[in-house]
Amino acid sequence: MLEINKLSVKYDNIRVLHYISMQIRKGEMVALIGANGAGKTTVLRTISGLLKAESGEILFEGKDITKMSSHNIVASGIVHVPEGRQIFTKMTIEENLKLGAYLQRDKSVMKRNFEKVFSLFPILKQRLHQQAGTLSGGEQQMLAIGRALLGNPKLLLLDEPSMGLSPIMTQQVFSVLESLKKEGITMLLVEQNAYEALEISDRAYILETGNITLEGRSSDLIQDPNVKKAYLGGD
Ligand code: ATP
Repeated sequence: MLEINKLSVKYDNIRVLHYISMQIRKGEMVALIGANGAGKTTVLRTISGLLKAESGEILFEGKDITKMSSHNIVASGIVHVPEGRQIFTKMTIEENLKLGAYLQRDKSVMKRNFEKVFSLFPILKQRLHQQAGTLSGGEQQMLAIGRALLGNPKLLLLDEPSMGLSPIMTQQVFSVLESLKKEGITMLLVEQNAYEALEISDRAYILETGNITLEGRSSDLIQDPNVKKAYLGGD
């Protein structure tokens, strides 16, 4: 579904991604693991067209999207849940959700998508007319994911959905991701919480200072001594 070939990205004159290649198949959940500053967010921002590649290509469903505008990339089915959630705290939950559905012209599809989001996140339905800033951090993350789902994503890009959350809320977010996976939504998950990310995903890539240093099935990587040492706090 998504194919990244020899992608490199620079900020000013500093290259932060060095000719990386990745693939995501339809229905797969792929994790991208790496330390702070490794370049994970840069990968997601480049896929969604917010940053431009220096070289290399990104193909989505066989189509070259490398130079496409971020608006057209969303319209083609790639929806990004950014780091730090970026919801509008002064707007109501309903208004935030509607922003995610702005490309949806078909009212009956929109209604069905809202129902789906409410069944995943009943709290959003209960608090529909409250300001989004009144939600807890974990609930705001649910809102950010719910908003993305209203965009009818074929591919969901998730940037550190557990960031800043308590262990209980983190578990809830991961169980939501598990439900989305069961529904067959294709996902690329960036996480610092490497253990949970490897447990839930099908495959993973390890990114170190802008290079993919390891890739494979998550169930293999979770046993890999180097991965254990570097990312899972073990030896
Ligand atoms: P984190 O887990 O801390 O969010 P990350 O793996 O997502 O890190 P990126 O945010 O992609 O890493 O950053 C990769 C590198 O690019 C870092 O060295 C970072 O300092 C640098 N960088 C990020 N944004 C910019 C920018 N706007 N201008 C210059 N350098 C940047």
